[in-house]
Amino acid sequence: MNEPQVNVIGAGLAGSEATFQLARRGIRVHLVEMRPAKMTEAHQTAGFAELVCSNSLRNDSLETAVGVLKEEMRRLGSLIIAAADRARVPAGSALAVDRVDFSRIVTETLEREPLVEIVRAEAEEIPPGPTIIASGPLTSAALGEALNAIIGPRNLYFYDAIAPIVAADSIDTSITFRAARYGKGGDDYINCPMTEVEYEAFIDALLAAEKVELHPFEKPVYFEGCMPIEEMARRGRQTLAFGPMRPVGLTDPRTGRRPFAVVQLRQDDADGRLYNIVGFQTKMTYPAQRNVLRMIPGLARAEFVRLGSLHRNTFIDSPRLLNPTLQLHARDDLFLAGQMIGVEGYVESAAAGLLAAINAARLVTDATMVVPPPVTALGSLIAYITDTRRRDFQPMNANYGLMPPLGAGTRGREKKTATGTRALAAIDEWIASNSIEPAQARTAANS
Ligand SMILES: Cc1cc2nc3c(=O)[nH]c(=O)nc-3n(C[C@H](O)[C@H](O)[C@H](O)COP(=O)(O)OP(=O)(O)OC[C@H]3O[C@@H](n4cnc5c(N)ncnc54)[C@H](O)[C@@H]3O)c2cc1C
Repeated sequence: MNEPQVNVIGAGLAGSEATFQLARRGIRVHLVEMRPAKMTEAHQTAGFAELVCSNSLRNDSLETAVGVLKEEMRRLGSLIIAAADRARVPAGSALAVDRVDFSRIVTETLEREPLVEIVRAEAEEIPPGPTIIASGPLTSAALGEALNAIIGPRNLYFYDAIAPIVAADSIDTSITFRAARYGKGGDDYINCPMTEVEYEAFIDALLAAEKVELHPFEKPVYFEGCMPIEEMARRGRQTLAFGPMRPVGLTDPRTGRRPFAVVQLRQDDADGRLYNIVGFQTKMTYPAQRNVLRMIPGLARAEFVRLGSLHRNTFIDSPRLLNPTLQLHARDDLFLAGQMIGVEGYVESAAAGLLAAINAARLVTDATMVVPPPVTALGSLIAYITDTRRRDFQPMNANYGLMPPLGAGTRGREKKTATGTRALAAIDEWIASNSIEPAQARTAANS
């Protein structure tokens, strides 16, 4: 008897979620992950769903679209969100995780799934039959070529930078202070306050610092949410003071005043031994990073557990290549998910894996394909990236701007909450009307 099976390539955020969703729908999964046999430029472990940069899955309230997206995923039985909820570390209104625990929960959950066969090898070809490709922004070259052979030479690529991590015990806490902006989340962040003079000196050093050079063929097009700090400084001396170093909502208890600028450090592990420098992606050389970042008040003796670096980001021209069901126009049993379809971020990538899996499961069981409505966070994101009118496609993360506006009359926070409430009602209705069985998010840790 031929049991339905789906191949999944890549056990990152999208591939792990897709595998879980398929297995919980009774579909056999052949999951191929190349680590640890072959590593990417950014991953450091063999674990599934490794978070390569920040440990935050961003805001968890309904006031933000990414908070709504997480809630939609919870209602669909997401493994990634269940694992994140379990591995949570304090981070104000953000859902931040201990990355080691998080990856372990996802890995162990999938290893225990009886319908999942895990193969640790690089996929160099795209297999025949129903397949989800979720090989991420750092897709191996061989697989990228195999994909190009199907879609034509329309793979785009650009470059991202990642933020450094410091050891907590190397931070000078006589200079820093603990607080979250506007008091939301107690004292979850360590804040390094800067005077105007310190800020100006910092910007001078940043502009003068040695950077890692790009090859001539590498076009430096940055996703706005992941722009290196030196690139922001190059655009204007005050850009950082209005961006990641903005002091709003913070008062230095030693002066009783708002500092001129603030560098925020966010807890990166459950024990609070590691802190990442929020929004400080950089492509300075390692020696330059040590020099420049130690100018930050409180970090003069900082021990850097990881320095920032620059990475490839591969994604396809989705508006021209992909259906909203996440099937390729060129081959309807081939689904793509995750960052490579041009969604940006851990949560968005996992959400795309979830939708690809729902549809792949429906394909092999002869059910009709489904797409969440555009008033939902997931539906609005998918509608955006597959909008055929779009030119010069760039990756996008979940945001309220993608969702159809509410009627006139609501504003500000009330408007956001109403948009979120509308989205959740719509996802419930979508789940019910399409008989979508939410996968039971029972993780290894609680089974
Ligand atoms: C350097 C960098 C920093 C980032 N920082 C952030 C951040 O701070 N916050 C955020 O929200 N997002 C960040 N992103 C985006 C992040 O990659 C995505 O949000 C998310 O990890 C993408 O999920 P994914 O499943 O598509 O890819 P991944 O999580 O990267 O998973 C892809 C998997 O496929 C595997 N693979 C690749 N090729 C093959 C092959 N041929 N055969 C088998 N397996 C293969 C890889 O080993 C990997 O495990 C960053 C991306 C990069 C590159």
